[in-house]
Amino acid sequence: MRDCGSLDIGSIPIGSTKKMNLKTPVENIQYIGTVYQKRLAKLKIHTVEDLLTHLPTKYEDFSVVANLCSAEKGQNTTIRAKVIKIENKRIFKKKMVLTEAVVQDGEAKAKVIWFNQPYLLNSVKEDEEFFFSGKIDIRNKWLTLTNPVVEKAFSKSAGTHTGRMIPIYPETRGVTSKWIRFVIKNLLERIENPPEILPEEIIKEQKLLTKAEALKKIHFPDNIDDTKEARRRIAFEQIYLIQTTLLEEKIRISRENAVSIPINVDILKRLVGQLPFKLTDSQRKTSWQILKDMEKKYPMNRLLEGDVGSGKTVVAAIAIANTTRAKFQSALMVPTEVLAKQHFKEVFNLLKSSNINIGLLTGKEDKFYSKKLKSDFIEISRKKLLEKVVSGDIDLLIGTHALIQDKVKFNNLALVILDEQHRFGVKQRAKLVSRNKATDIRIPHLLSMTATPIPRTLALSIYGDLDLSLITQLPKGRKKISTKMVFEKDRVEVYSFVKKQVQKGKQVFVICPRIDPDEDKEEGSRWANVKAVKEEHERLQKEIFPKFNIGIIHGKMGIKDKERTMRDFKNKKIDILVSTSVIEVGIDVPNATVMIIEGAERFGLAQLHQFRGRVGRSKSQSYCFLFPESFSPKTKSRMTALLSSADGFSLAEQDLKLRGAGDFLGKRQWGLTDIAMDSLANIKLVQLARESAIKTIEKDVSLRRHPLLKSKVNELRKVMHLE
Ligand code: ADP
Ligand code: MG
Repeated sequence: MRDCGSLDIGSIPIGSTKKMNLKTPVENIQYIGTVYQKRLAKLKIHTVEDLLTHLPTKYEDFSVVANLCSAEKGQNTTIRAKVIKIENKRIFKKKMVLTEAVVQDGEAKAKVIWFNQPYLLNSVKEDEEFFFSGKIDIRNKWLTLTNPVVEKAFSKSAGTHTGRMIPIYPETRGVTSKWIRFVIKNLLERIENPPEILPEEIIKEQKLLTKAEALKKIHFPDNIDDTKEARRRIAFEQIYLIQTTLLEEKIRISRENAVSIPINVDILKRLVGQLPFKLTDSQRKTSWQILKDMEKKYPMNRLLEGDVGSGKTVVAAIAIANTTRAKFQSALMVPTEVLAKQHFKEVFNLLKSSNINIGLLTGKEDKFYSKKLKSDFIEISRKKLLEKVVSGDIDLLIGTHALIQDKVKFNNLALVILDEQHRFGVKQRAKLVSRNKATDIRIPHLLSMTATPIPRTLALSIYGDLDLSLITQLPKGRKKISTKMVFEKDRVEVYSFVKKQVQKGKQVFVICPRIDPDEDKEEGSRWANVKAVKEEHERLQKEIFPKFNIGIIHGKMGIKDKERTMRDFKNKKIDILVSTSVIEVGIDVPNATVMIIEGAERFGLAQLHQFRGRVGRSKSQSYCFLFPESFSPKTKSRMTALLSSADGFSLAEQDLKLRGAGDFLGKRQWGLTDIAMDSLANIKLVQLARESAIKTIEKDVSLRRHPLLKSKVNELRKVMHLE
């Protein structure tokens, strides 16, 4: 049964007189006990502020109040009528309760019915007048309203649920839009002047609504224009907050000291000359931008963006070589141990001819290597490795988060490179160098690298603190990966193709969108029917390819198991690897030539493009098969984009248009509302908000005059940097 709680529909006295502000926990609001507190927690609502910023996803327009005799069939209408008769009827066959009322408005009568809301009898009383909002229908010659929203006429809260545009909210079990509407209406009356984050002059200049107006108009608009104005204000505020945070960070960093690393052209020429390939123009240009940055006396803060396989590692290696030559240390941090080891070998190969010592530091129980070049890799104890780092014997230390979390001390760390992890706050950097023996380096230079192409518009909105370098071309002679969209009917054919490839000694990836078939079986779940990794692994092994070795890898496996699996795959002990999106970043197994993606429409284009980049890493022709599970026109246009384009940037632009900014922000989403999320791609609004943020910051860098803004900036910075 639908549970509307015991909420009356109009006549409850409003709230107590207790003091209330935005930070007041919901359980202190009248009518919200522990039951609702728990339910609201599911919607991530914990405070008054969370409630007020729980924004409607849409509105229903019941603003037309009609007489029964003029009401038109099929239209959303509000009528005011007196209840002549009302009763509950049990329908045993269908196991439900029908509440049926006859209502009268002047001479005209109508029937009103509700399903499974027997408690309405407590509040909808005979001989009293009510507003009913719903769709008018004609049944058995009666004007009929089915499941309308009802509200007592002339009550204090009349006009909350009927006779107007009513907001529809994201709901959860036991928390209906009607309930939320009621509570928010009361809150808005009690909190008349919510504190402003935006400085007053900016509200005036940009002709924005005040916070109070915006909240009122977003929850209880009089018309569509109200909602637009309110959305603009809400989006502006959040983007302004992001921009202020990014700018503040940028300014803070530019005021820090870093060591200037001179560019040693001879060394670089020699290094480039000894590479087994010619650098692309993009690689030359971006390397130069980086080297120029590092010549300055304040820390570099640069993001190097380049498609999968565009050759970012060698650009990083050039910066490292130059840093080493100037007798400073570098650190390269990557998200996983598998990648750390891979980079270790790769950078070692690229810098073979330079005289550089490289250390690899990963998890707690892991082994450590160091390399005095000219000899072979040697395994050394962690203790020895750390000694070599602090003595300056190691020029480049590669590793996972262990680099900053463990008690690693450097001699004179001057360059930090992050692969596939874009943000790193001043604080984190300061933490790294606070362990420098050399005291003249305050903050190291920072280079972040990513293969997620970020559209230009979005780059400004979310990476406004970083300078951007783009690698826009791939090295010559790359074979195009043959990409096909395939359907259930093609499955047999695809599998026989896979069989032939494996028999030729090639390897295959199969990506599924979920881990376990038993999770999220709940009806209507986003993941219902989605192929699960475990299920698919079993099916392929038992039914399709009993003779091949099929491996499995997913995020819930322990690091050791993951590593073993990846090693086995690299060493060809596994022919087909069934995986979740964990293999998305940077895994390099050139012998893999086939990529099968199940439930392909569930991934973003940029992500699909990343998956595809796992194959096509050798001279052999590679293939990518996309199996969509459902096939809407939207799916079709997205998949077609993937078939026709091999350019990550243009795919990212399309992704942004089709799916919004969410995919680009990563998991945490910075706590943004959907409204702000949509607006991140609105370049005009972003620019206005940015200009306003610049004004604020220029006048008051420390935000001393804007304490609320300052505390919000601090909060956001923490989320951005995962501090
Ligand atoms: P990513 O940008 O995805 O990190 P990598 O740096 O791993 O790409 O480079 C992918 C492969 O391309 C490596 O094997 C690398 O040696 C090779 N490579 C890099 N630059 C060039 C180039 N200019 N010409 C040919 N091959 C290159
Ligand atoms: Mg890489």
